[in-house]
Amino acid sequence: MNAIADMPSSMSPASAATQGSPQAAPLIEVRDLRKRFGELEVLRGVDLDIARSEVVCIIGPSGSGKSTLLRCLAALETYDQGDVRIEGELLGYTERNGRRVRASQGEINRVRRNVGMVFQQFNLWPHMTALGNVMEALLRVQRLSHDEARRRANAMLETVGLAHKGDAYPAKLSGGQQQRVAIARALAMEPHIMLFDEPTSALDPELVGEVLQVMKQLARDGMTMAVVTHEMGFAAQVADKVVFIDQGCIAVQGKPREVFHDAAQPRLRQFLQNYFDRNAFWTRGPDDTQAL
Ligand code: ADP
Ligand code: MG
Repeated sequence: MNAIADMPSSMSPASAATQGSPQAAPLIEVRDLRKRFGELEVLRGVDLDIARSEVVCIIGPSGSGKSTLLRCLAALETYDQGDVRIEGELLGYTERNGRRVRASQGEINRVRRNVGMVFQQFNLWPHMTALGNVMEALLRVQRLSHDEARRRANAMLETVGLAHKGDAYPAKLSGGQQQRVAIARALAMEPHIMLFDEPTSALDPELVGEVLQVMKQLARDGMTMAVVTHEMGFAAQVADKVVFIDQGCIAVQGKPREVFHDAAQPRLRQFLQNYFDRNAFWTRGPDDTQAL
């Protein structure tokens, strides 16, 4: 049973009905996306499709524009040129008399309502319990009744394996548990796509696995996901597509095997080599063979 993937369409039939053939089109379409901060051109013509139920892992050096790309997809950042379409609808702008004008905040919120995001820093409210954190947007944004919000929040905490921690405050939770609450909070809004920006980078190494496990389960349940990550093992196992961003452009994209093993692109090879060098904690040199 594909519980999470089924949830949005069954819960919001109106949005499906208003689009031509929503199942066939990519959930997210990015065309020639450009973004600059002053003199610095951070995204320099990004083209990316994310299909329904696809898991896209985004890798690349620090400063290459990965976070900016995700933030543009969630309308947390404006973009200067190109298109970001979510389920066929242009995000951030509307066409008026043949000219593109900035959309109203209400319109932006409507187009991005099905995009959930999880950040490196979990950003939980410290004065609210885990359950309260998950309920908050359900009460204030979705205006659910208290009972309904509590019911859904509890179900989401169960999804991330934290049904027993509903009454705990963030300070009493490990980093891994806090991040799982943050995932539950995003899931509670019933997104059609989840964006993750280095969700395990702030965690102690022994806590990374529990968060990746939750993300793997989401992927198995059919959630559409874009994940910026340095967890190459996760990307290799879970991604349908791996995207390597370098200096604001997608330099390589393909299936994990194509990107991790077969790609000859020099910057990617160098990036992966650095990664492997950093993570190789046991190397058998020629002199070691006797000892082993
Ligand atoms: P990544 O996530 O790949 O490390 P970012 O998208 O965060 O990269 O940043 C890309 C570049 O844009 C970096 O040089 C960064 O310093 C710059 N940048 C990001 N956000 C801002 C901002 N709000 N103002 C100015 N420069 C920014
Ligand atoms: Mg980043």
